[in-house]
Amino acid sequence: MLVTLRGNHRLLVRNLTLEDRNLSLIKQLSEVNQVLEAKVSERTERLARLAHTDKLTGLFNRYGLFDWHQKRIEAEPHTRTVVFFLDLDRFKQVNDALSHEAGDKVLTAIAQQIESVAPPQAKLARWGGDEFVLACQVTGDVNALVDEVSEAVSRAVDIPLNIEGTDLKLGVSIGWACHPDHDKTFSDIVHAADLATTEVKRSGRGRTLAFDETFAESLRRRFNLSRALSAAIGSDALYVAYQPIVCARTGALMSYEALCRWDHPELGTIRPDEFIRLAEDTDRIVALGNWVLERACADAVQWRRQGIAAKVAVNVSVKQLTLDTFALHLVSILSRTGLSPACLEIEVTESVFDDGHIEQVSHTIKHLKALGVHIHIDDFGTGYSSLSRLRHLNVSGIKIDQSFVADLSGQSRVIIESTILIARAFGLTIVAEGVESDEQRDLLRTLGVDQIQGYLLGRPQRLGDILGADTFSETAA
Ligand code: C2E
Ligand code: MG
Ligand code: MG
Repeated sequence: MLVTLRGNHRLLVRNLTLEDRNLSLIKQLSEVNQVLEAKVSERTERLARLAHTDKLTGLFNRYGLFDWHQKRIEAEPHTRTVVFFLDLDRFKQVNDALSHEAGDKVLTAIAQQIESVAPPQAKLARWGGDEFVLACQVTGDVNALVDEVSEAVSRAVDIPLNIEGTDLKLGVSIGWACHPDHDKTFSDIVHAADLATTEVKRSGRGRTLAFDETFAESLRRRFNLSRALSAAIGSDALYVAYQPIVCARTGALMSYEALCRWDHPELGTIRPDEFIRLAEDTDRIVALGNWVLERACADAVQWRRQGIAAKVAVNVSVKQLTLDTFALHLVSILSRTGLSPACLEIEVTESVFDDGHIEQVSHTIKHLKALGVHIHIDDFGTGYSSLSRLRHLNVSGIKIDQSFVADLSGQSRVIIESTILIARAFGLTIVAEGVESDEQRDLLRTLGVDQIQGYLLGRPQRLGDILGADTFSETAA
């Protein structure tokens, strides 16, 4: 009995000691747990912050913005928000001309400038690249808020920056939409504002535009056309039409301008204004332009073989001209087709004078001139090229834009006269396009234009029609 009692007592003491140890273990464990929990929650918070923050600017990123908006809607369900989608103009040139580091500095500086003018109830986020979203709570009149904010943002972006010793001036294109109008979610509203910005970019930049339902439709069409264009290049759907350019004095045929045409199997004929711009925006212009160039050179060889002594004028995009390989590519086209370089004129628009690529362009033009190819500046007068730059680039001629020809009785006449005066002094060939009437032809001839082109002299036509005609009748004479 005594033995049993003693045994029980030992057991009790051991149990109590164990329990005590357990308790202190549990206490220790719970302390460790608390530290762990604190660490985990701190980590989670940090991760959430990181996941919601744009690393470069320190602003919210798109997840941060959505989260911010969600919390606001929960707190104030009836609140309205205007979403501004901001896309910087000319930012790509900064990246191309300077460096990506310079580009980063520009983005950070611009972000600060925009943030400094944002209303107190607004939130600025970086959407990606050079795009920002500014969400503003509406407290009064929406239109007044839009005017005030877009003006302030434009002015803030307009402030010149000095990055790595270079003075830079950017602009901003702004699209906006209002949540919860149009029965859309917040994410749909940001997308709607983005569509409005795309429309601003497409139609000239630097403005503010409200979302309109038709933008979505036009974007869908662009997307479909853009995909179809890749397949069309090199197929029968694309072809080249040729429009005569004649001597203003005698009416003799001088050259044919190659103009690309696209007959879409379902959508019908797509206007060049639409698909060329689309090709420019998506960089498909290089493949398209190279295809036209080769086709046009081969066709010119055909008509020259038939005794039609006309040159061929081909429109070349700045995007083709700024490629290092362009001159080499042209040499191989000329050798494949057998066209003499002297029978080729290249038409480029005034955008070749943009500062961003002037060096590369003058280098390529020098090569082309050395080959014997002629360079004409197309749509002259619509851009910003100074005539002295023409001399610097060593071009052979200019093509006065048809908008001036259409308005010969007004201001345009003075512009044409002074353009001719200077172009003459530089020894440039002067061509006028868009000639539709006898009066226009006669006046241009009197003013001293060398060559003319337009519906009066002939519409663009297929190669078959040119080859079918014996010789070109001198309609302009
Ligand atoms: P552009 O090079 O200035 O071509 C002249 C445009 O004016 C052509 O329009 C032509 O059809 C039109 N036109 C000619 N005569 C008259 C006239 O008397 N009155 C009027 N109202 N218009 C006339 P199109 O063919 O629609 O081409 C539009 C633009 O598309 C061209 O302007 C050119 O910049 C571009 N383009 C066409 N084909 C090519 C190409 O193969 N490559 C590139 N890069 N651009 C091209
Ligand atoms: Mg042209
Ligand atoms: Mg033109």
